[in-house]
Amino acid sequence: MNQKDYIKLEQQYGAHNYKPLDVVLCRGEGVWVWDVDGNRYMDCLSAYSAVNQGHCHPKIMAAMMEQARKLTLTSRAFRNDQLGLFYKELCELTNSHKVLPMNSGAEAVETVIKAVRKWGYQVKGVAGDKAEIIVCENNFHGRTITIVGFSTDPASREGFGPFTPGFKIIPFGDAEALENAIGPDTVGFLVEPIQGEAGVVIPPPGYLRQVREICSRHNIVLILDEIQTGLGRTGKLLAEEHEGIEADLTLVGKALSGGFYPVSAVLSNSEVLGVLRPGEHGSTFGGNPLACAIARTALKVLTEENLIENAARMGAYFLEGLQKIENPKIRQVRGKGLLLAVEFYPDAGGARSYCERLMQKGLLCKETHDNIIRFAPPLVIDRQQVDWALERIAPVLGS
Ligand SMILES: *Cc1c(COP(=O)(O)O)cnc(C)c1O
Repeated sequence: MNQKDYIKLEQQYGAHNYKPLDVVLCRGEGVWVWDVDGNRYMDCLSAYSAVNQGHCHPKIMAAMMEQARKLTLTSRAFRNDQLGLFYKELCELTNSHKVLPMNSGAEAVETVIKAVRKWGYQVKGVAGDKAEIIVCENNFHGRTITIVGFSTDPASREGFGPFTPGFKIIPFGDAEALENAIGPDTVGFLVEPIQGEAGVVIPPPGYLRQVREICSRHNIVLILDEIQTGLGRTGKLLAEEHEGIEADLTLVGKALSGGFYPVSAVLSNSEVLGVLRPGEHGSTFGGNPLACAIARTALKVLTEENLIENAARMGAYFLEGLQKIENPKIRQVRGKGLLLAVEFYPDAGGARSYCERLMQKGLLCKETHDNIIRFAPPLVIDRQQVDWALERIAPVLGS
């Protein structure tokens, strides 16, 4: 079978809820992936930051194989010997008190909404069914009905109503808007430190510090969705560290497994997770021993191999290279760590066609919206590989 045959099968039998580049991959190693015809590409998307540790990292793979031979799933009806260690290591690394493990990122978001609402009723004293959570315009938190209900992206929400009530939407990066939106029933503020899917939108300096102060003053739980920005991507373990703050609740996912398995978690610094009692929330696969063994090693690799520092250094170098590209159609080049983006003027459009041309040159990346390209390679990338990428990106984006 060649690439066309595989694509035909997907077209015929699959729902068309994605529009992927027409490249059929079958192997990966570090920053590189190969298609079924043997062509090599540099992966500059990293599965939306789920493979921060690089493709098929040998240590994570070994941990996965070893655990798979021993025990994979117990359900939480019984205990397992990996869960407690996973909790401890994740808490120590992130300076958290408690963890609630789930699978996908969207499930972590759903979990946090439930926990914060319950906290609102039990601790803050909000009247039953009145709790309100504030979110931001152009957010991306996942794809469930509740989550798309507070999305402002028409493609995400149109045709999927009716939606879950209890959310208020304010502009991103505007601390005053948060202050003004807070009412007596507000229980939480859910926000991404940098909006990834919106196109790597970085809020003004000081925003997170202001938000932290406002939430504390009004007794509102600050929830940072670090599913994309966390675990080294922006050059810090968590993006909140850029402003020296601590969220009350932090969501991690994606790179928590290094791309081997869906593992997500809610991290709690306050006692919000303490309001959940047995039987009130759960997941068959959440916290399973295979997931925990994989995640423990994925976290170890981040620190042992200095991937966080590398993301900061290589990110700055990559950004500098992108900023040298001259093209009047480019509106802005921006980024933090290895979460980078080139934005074109909206009427220039055509981000997709740049991505297709980059694919021809052996570099895979993906447009977000019509006019923004995100560059987010695995954090194992070295200087020579950044040079290799820039040698291909500069002529394509410069024309
Ligand atoms: C990817 C992502 C999610 C959703 O994660 P899934 O595993 O796809 O459900 C939530 N929030 C942010 C910021 C993300 O980037």
